[in-house]
Amino acid sequence: MTPLAQILAARIAATGPITLAEYMAECLLHPLHGYYTTRDPLGAAGDFTTAPEISQMFGELLGLTLAQSWLDQGSPAPFTLAELGPGRGTLMADVLRATRGVPGFHAGAQVRLLEASPTLRAAQQARLQGVSVDWLAAITDLPDQPLFLLANEFFDALPIHQFHHDGAQWRERLVGLRGGALAFGLSDPIRGVPDSPAFSDPQPGHVVEVCPAAQPYLHVLGQRIRQHGGAALIVDYGGWGTSGDTFQALRRHAYADPLAEPGLADLTAHVDFAALAAGAGLACGFAEQGAFLTRLGIDARAARLAASLTGAALESHHAAHRRLTHRDEMGSVFKVLGLYRPGSPPPPGFA
Ligand code: SAH
Repeated sequence: MTPLAQILAARIAATGPITLAEYMAECLLHPLHGYYTTRDPLGAAGDFTTAPEISQMFGELLGLTLAQSWLDQGSPAPFTLAELGPGRGTLMADVLRATRGVPGFHAGAQVRLLEASPTLRAAQQARLQGVSVDWLAAITDLPDQPLFLLANEFFDALPIHQFHHDGAQWRERLVGLRGGALAFGLSDPIRGVPDSPAFSDPQPGHVVEVCPAAQPYLHVLGQRIRQHGGAALIVDYGGWGTSGDTFQALRRHAYADPLAEPGLADLTAHVDFAALAAGAGLACGFAEQGAFLTRLGIDARAARLAASLTGAALESHHAAHRRLTHRDEMGSVFKVLGLYRPGSPPPPGFA
């Protein structure tokens, strides 16, 4: 058993089964044994890789989209340039490099990062050396001013609750003990399920996931953007509405048993973009990542970068371009949600 498995087993033995959300939160962010608190999980040597780590083109195009949106809104200054869950800081570094030439953008930008992991905060500090950066203790600390915000693979890491319908009743998926080991189970029937269209018209075997932990982020960014202007780009895997059981564990680039090694595997669930958009209360655009990047001109940018590459570097550049955009790779399972103030023009990239 991992140290965290022992802690969780003792807790469950003492006070009973815990929800999937509690399990996920402990596994990812336990102060001593949490997955994110204890490691840098990204890259070839880690457990998974992400779009900004695959190619600089991702951050460049997202950065230029935000900058265009900022120009379209009259170049307000000062403004917050924020990122949720910035990983190694690669996306923000690419955004800042790509927007250097946008007059007034850097002078007006106050960079604010929200990061729960001390390990990754140190990586961000190293990557963004020379940039004036503040780390927010909480999303509510976002200043009262225009907000331009990015989040890539942040919302999939927030804890979800999962509900199962057996034809007659809803029950919540729990983590309990069987023979001393962690095991999945179901709660007693639930009386009041969350108020969401996903729970209407249930069929036997129907599974619904909800992520109440996402709502405070949407609430605050929605309020800042409605009041002061701005835009947010949220990129993740998932869809419009919930899509059954999507809870999964990843270890060393392969699917793993989510209960086998708590704290040592990444746990995620698909993102319900409809719930995010509803929580923000803003105008929105929604696109598949591949189509979005293509509309922003990734093919031209890729050709430009390819011109100065040869051999293995050129091969891997072509592979990265394909990986970000092709529908058999990240192009269609990943989506982009653009949120902006009603009445302002949408950020570019949304059809
Ligand atoms: N955006 C980066 C990293 C994605 S991994 C990239 O695309 O490469 C998820 C990131 O969210 C990590 O930085 C992780 O530490 C952070 N994170 C997860 N849960 C969080 C929470 N509740 N609050 C703040 N940061 C969190």
